[in-house]
Amino acid sequence: MTEITSRNIRAKQKSLATYKYELKPVVHGYANRTLFIDLTKKKIESKPMTPKMKELFTGGRGFGLWLLWNGIKDKTKWNDPENELIVAGGPIGGITAYPGSGKSTVVTISPLTDSVIDSNVGAYFGPYLKFSGWDALEIQGKNDKDVVIFIDGDKGEVTIEEADYDLVDTHIINRLLTEAYAQNEKEMRGISVISAGQGADHVAMSCLNFSFYDARRKEIRIKQAARGGCGRVFRDKHIKAVVVKYTQVSGDSNGCADIELVRKAGKRLNKEIADFDKVQNDMGETGTPYLVEIMSKFDLLPIQNFRFGSDPRAKQIAGEIWKAMFDHSGPDGCWYGCTLACAHGVPHFHLRTGPYKGETVFIDGPEYETIGALGTNNDIFNTAQILEMNFYCDTYGIDTISCGNSIAFAMECWENGILNLERTGGLDLSWGNYDSAIEMIHQMARGKGFGVIVGQGIRYMKKYFAEHFGADAKVMQDIGMEVKGLEVSDYISKESLTQQGGYAMASKGPQHDEAWLIFIEMVHKQLPTFEKKAEALFYFPVWRTWFSLHGLCKLPWNDIIPTSNKTAEEPAKVPEHIENYCWLHEGVMGIKTTHETLMAESEKVYHFQRVFNLRRGYGKRNDDRPPYRAMGPVTVKEYESRTERYDQQLREEVGIDPTGLSVEQKLAAVRKYREDRYEQLLDAVYKRRGWTAEGIPTLETLKRVGMDLPEVVEVVKHNS
Ligand code: SF4
Repeated sequence: MTEITSRNIRAKQKSLATYKYELKPVVHGYANRTLFIDLTKKKIESKPMTPKMKELFTGGRGFGLWLLWNGIKDKTKWNDPENELIVAGGPIGGITAYPGSGKSTVVTISPLTDSVIDSNVGAYFGPYLKFSGWDALEIQGKNDKDVVIFIDGDKGEVTIEEADYDLVDTHIINRLLTEAYAQNEKEMRGISVISAGQGADHVAMSCLNFSFYDARRKEIRIKQAARGGCGRVFRDKHIKAVVVKYTQVSGDSNGCADIELVRKAGKRLNKEIADFDKVQNDMGETGTPYLVEIMSKFDLLPIQNFRFGSDPRAKQIAGEIWKAMFDHSGPDGCWYGCTLACAHGVPHFHLRTGPYKGETVFIDGPEYETIGALGTNNDIFNTAQILEMNFYCDTYGIDTISCGNSIAFAMECWENGILNLERTGGLDLSWGNYDSAIEMIHQMARGKGFGVIVGQGIRYMKKYFAEHFGADAKVMQDIGMEVKGLEVSDYISKESLTQQGGYAMASKGPQHDEAWLIFIEMVHKQLPTFEKKAEALFYFPVWRTWFSLHGLCKLPWNDIIPTSNKTAEEPAKVPEHIENYCWLHEGVMGIKTTHETLMAESEKVYHFQRVFNLRRGYGKRNDDRPPYRAMGPVTVKEYESRTERYDQQLREEVGIDPTGLSVEQKLAAVRKYREDRYEQLLDAVYKRRGWTAEGIPTLETLKRVGMDLPEVVEVVKHNS
């Protein structure tokens, strides 16, 4: 068979459908239509945007949720043809004058949670999709062979092309397609490709890779829509790739109402970044790995399946180590104009395992979460080993967070005797066994071996181990770090009650993009009462949701701190940056904007997503409870690793003298205390959010925010 190259790849694709459309400029952040594709019927059509849709759902995640709500039935499964995969940027997304403005959100029914998932991602796809004329891409149906969907925003044409060849791993397919759809190297900058690798054919925890061409390094760079199995849905629909091409980006492709106001905000933030990033978090050279040592110092770094929070070996994989390994030959923004530029990568990495063994590759990452999940949580503190796992997870289309934490769960089950060589197919899952960890990742890609069971996630493993190996369901419930079916992201939440709620109440499952309140509570001691905790768990999830409505990255909001924060009344909110966002909103959309305007936009969508969960059979109090490992020490070993802390808590907070008690008795007393407090937290937060004691938004709340659509009210009534 002839080798597939960028020159011949398009000749191997057969057009199944073509749709021509009129090119129109974006006005005040909107293209004012969405693109619908049905792969079963080979239908491509334009859907108009209604003013009501903009008013209620704003864009990005909001549009994704609304399109999905209308596209599926109540009982639609993730692999039913009518499940949809939606990608949407947002009205502010695509501006180049303000850092962090190129994100998009993927929305679908998740194979991990069976409910709605939203996953945000960088790279150029979201802005290019909009500039090509579409506020969202909505894909339904399935083809029986692989297809490439090509959106040509230069020509005004969408095609579905059958792509019946084997190549699928991201680092290969994204390069070939970027080259194939560009006339020359300059045009490669105008192309973004979405793909998922061969792992996404077999395991639920699959991600999507979104790319852009890094002209300075001549590399295809990738960012992940990682959470909740979007890649699995993508491959189940037999999509090999979605390619968008738009080569005309300008400083005002967004059709801003007042570009000077946008520039004013950008100028202020860019100056702060230039002045302070190096002395604050050094995102520009170190990126999120700067967190590794800090988390270890504060006992928050996940070690051995979240049992412990710090380890002296953290310095072997600390920010400074990664900084020295990263390529600093060019800027690392994942969209034009992002001067925070945290998307680093390691060049010239020599692969030692798997199908690409012997090849030298550029690896995007690792991010902090990847280091925590694949590294420390599995007791692996070796940079080369973390990088090799990072590379293969990405190119196979596997979420590093879910993957690492699922392996960690399996390793603890090994230690507990639930797993043995016979049950794992010969893999020794002792802590830190890198050879077994990387082999499981390769098994996920091959679709064979014990790795495939691990790749279905912790919720699946808990059931499987109980049914097949007689494992104690209660023990696994305590140590299995998933909520709603999604693996918990990589911070220890045991000593932060508010963060326990931030994780477990999060709409899609325990991802830190909804709330990260550990420092406010633990270090700054700003949430002493249930009332304050509830206020934080109202404000921050609603506020953070706002970024995903507009195609914005959250990092420039609070990973760079202005001097005005020193005298701010509520520094955690970073008021000066909120003012920037008001300027951006007004400058792009032409709507007079205050902080309240932004919160109101977001609150509508926040409650709507809760009701969407309800419609799927979730979204109630019982779904908001974390495993006990996220709340406190499960085992004697964990208790004994922090005896002083827990004994002191028993004495000072619980009112029990620990002297003379066995560790088991002390564990039980701490547990009772913490579980009681968690229930009190739920009560307080639900009340603040305007939800019932069962966690259901009340009709008054829906009416207050303007989300009392008849179909939404019907779901609430049905579940009340
Ligand atoms: S801050 Fe980092 S992740 Fe966010 S847009 Fe900039 S480069 Fe991308």
